[in-house]
Amino acid sequence: MPRLLSVATAILLVGCAASGPHGLSPLADQGQISAAEAAPLAEMAAEAHWNDPFPPFKVMGNIYYVGTTGVSSWLITTPQGHILLDGALPQTPPQIIANIQALGFDIRDVKYLLNSHAHFDHAGGLAALKQATGATLVASAADRAVLESGRVGYGPTANISVPAVRVDRIIGNGDKLSLGGVTLTAHLTPGHTPGCTSWSMDVRGDDGRLHQAFFHCSTTTGGQALAPESYPGMIADYRATFAYMRNVKADIFLANHANFFGLADKRARQIAGDPDAFVNADALGDFNAQSERDFNAELAKQTAAAGH
Ligand SMILES: [Zn+2]
Repeated sequence: MPRLLSVATAILLVGCAASGPHGLSPLADQGQISAAEAAPLAEMAAEAHWNDPFPPFKVMGNIYYVGTTGVSSWLITTPQGHILLDGALPQTPPQIIANIQALGFDIRDVKYLLNSHAHFDHAGGLAALKQATGATLVASAADRAVLESGRVGYGPTANISVPAVRVDRIIGNGDKLSLGGVTLTAHLTPGHTPGCTSWSMDVRGDDGRLHQAFFHCSTTTGGQALAPESYPGMIADYRATFAYMRNVKADIFLANHANFFGLADKRARQIAGDPDAFVNADALGDFNAQSERDFNAELAKQTAAAGH
């Protein structure tokens, strides 16, 4: 009965399309993206003024800041199109798009979208930005399921869902992404999320000197449970990342929350005339060491509280 068989096949295919390739909910449509953009900010984002606007600017060379007062988004330009790292909150894309335009670039020239990690404040805007750009979304395997479902499912952001977005290409540790003569290297730095991804690249200042920029994913605990750990292997991941980071050298330390790298202060110094306001060979190592101390203190506190 070929006819019946084909009906059964059609039903199977429809079922597949509706649930996505990994059995997750469907990806966000225009209605969901618009609703998320118009929705009130999540409480922690509102309290910290994460979505307040910040004037976009050139950090150095082809690296531009297009994020908000609290949450970063980075535009890396090339003659063959651009790379955009992080989509910030679901409410942020209109600001990011306006910032890119204010700098004289076209959002439609963005060819790659990258994500530091799949939390609502860095991945929430990716679905809207993907729609605005048609860019290829590159992310780690371990954060893919959260990006494609829009939900973390545990921790302080468990009840926050954001527009789900398709991951087009998976990157691993040390993988390189090249466009228009610019190469970014992925560093898997898990712990904060299982697939937390940092990126590095060379950048040349106006004086011709070459620098190494590092876009740090995050090694804060961010209110997440460590005892018991929020996901299997979380503590080991943090420890491996702290050890890995001790060997990374970069003299431009950038991160996905403005307070992690002193955005306002450094930008003020740059405006005052210091072209190397963002250059500091110690900043990345200092951040890693402080982050490790904070992690150990938080782990000890939570372990004691759990009665172990
Ligand atoms: Zn986070």
